[in-house]
Amino acid sequence: MVRKREKSLPTSNAQRPTAVIGVLALQGDFDAHRRRLEELGAKVLLIKKSEQLEDIDGLVIPGGESGTFLNLLGDEGFKKLKQFARLKPTFGTCAGAILLATDVENPKQAGLGAIDMAIRRNAYGRQVDSSIREGLLGKSPLEMVFIRAPKISRVGAEVEVLATEGKDPVAVRQGSAMAATFHPELSDDTRVHKAFLDLVTGASHTSVRGFAR
Ligand code: GLN
Repeated sequence: MVRKREKSLPTSNAQRPTAVIGVLALQGDFDAHRRRLEELGAKVLLIKKSEQLEDIDGLVIPGGESGTFLNLLGDEGFKKLKQFARLKPTFGTCAGAILLATDVENPKQAGLGAIDMAIRRNAYGRQVDSSIREGLLGKSPLEMVFIRAPKISRVGAEVEVLATEGKDPVAVRQGSAMAATFHPELSDDTRVHKAFLDLVTGASHTSVRGFAR
């Protein structure tokens, strides 16, 4: 991985400043993300008001109910979040992934459009309300916890598939927006959050378009 040092960084101190990651804390599964990110050395801010978006380097939108998120955000919150996701690294899991999509189905609802994909809510049916499966992150096995999960039914040409389960893409990235239809915060494996933190540090230290590898 090529690390470019930005001119404005203090040269006497080779250490990177700690990234400040916001976790949207309107509802849902935000605390497990907070714990995981802190475990990985990030400073975490629980985001309850859109003004707080100014204080963070990246944002996690957790699982929950995407329709409820939309209601709680309101038009103004939605607009601010959309703007944020265009400018800074944003990672959505499950309901958060649904929010980041361009097209949402079952039923149709608004998406922030940060990732060019269509996503179908509650796509595994009632019998499979939740399940733990093994998928692949790149080429290596990864435990994946699915809870009333959506399925990504289309990805645009600019979208990179990071993880699959069976034939389905389950984690994707476009620019500095990343989404997973499962809950990496509920497994012990920290690689998915690490990948997001790499995206954040990469993006704030260079004008990176993709993952720092
Ligand atoms: N079923 C939820 C939705 O459609 C997502 C579930 C989750 O985030 N675990 O928004």
